[in-house]
Amino acid sequence: MRYAQWALVCLIGSAALTLHANTHQHGAHEHGRGVMNVVTQGREVLIELELPAVHVVGFEHAPRTDAERHAIEAARERYSDAAALFRFADNAQCTSNSTEIHLGEDVEHGHSGEHSQLHAEYAFSCHHPQHLNAFTTRLFEHLEGLERLEVNVITPSLQTRIHLSSSQSAVSLRR
Ligand SMILES: [Zn+2]
Repeated sequence: MRYAQWALVCLIGSAALTLHANTHQHGAHEHGRGVMNVVTQGREVLIELELPAVHVVGFEHAPRTDAERHAIEAARERYSDAAALFRFADNAQCTSNSTEIHLGEDVEHGHSGEHSQLHAEYAFSCHHPQHLNAFTTRLFEHLEGLERLEVNVITPSLQTRIHLSSSQSAVSLRR
């Protein structure tokens, strides 16, 4: 089931990226912009995140110094703390099930040459999904220079795309 859901998240991501097909190629991205895909189904909430590494660690080349290696480690740690990054209503009783972070691999393996990004996947399970009306994210507290985060939302009652910024950090999950 989990894999089917992730396939769905990836599908949304692909659809969103197709809209930028002219400028978007594998490994490339537009600086200043990030993408978040959100899917809820029953008790499960899945959140996928794609952010240009320059906004996460301040550079996109392979780390050359200890400071740059530390920056990548610190970011991996920060983005692994799902409960700190995403807040649901207390009475929904959501807990983080799994978190997967990819950062720095692209550059280390010379994947795309120029660009590198953070890719993260978060899975939550909520005891009382009837209280799952919205969530807020603290992502913008950690990001340098990200202007806009495009959020694609698919829930049983809502399919929409919104944009988050440092002044708008809430994502509705219901109509
Ligand atoms: Zn880049």
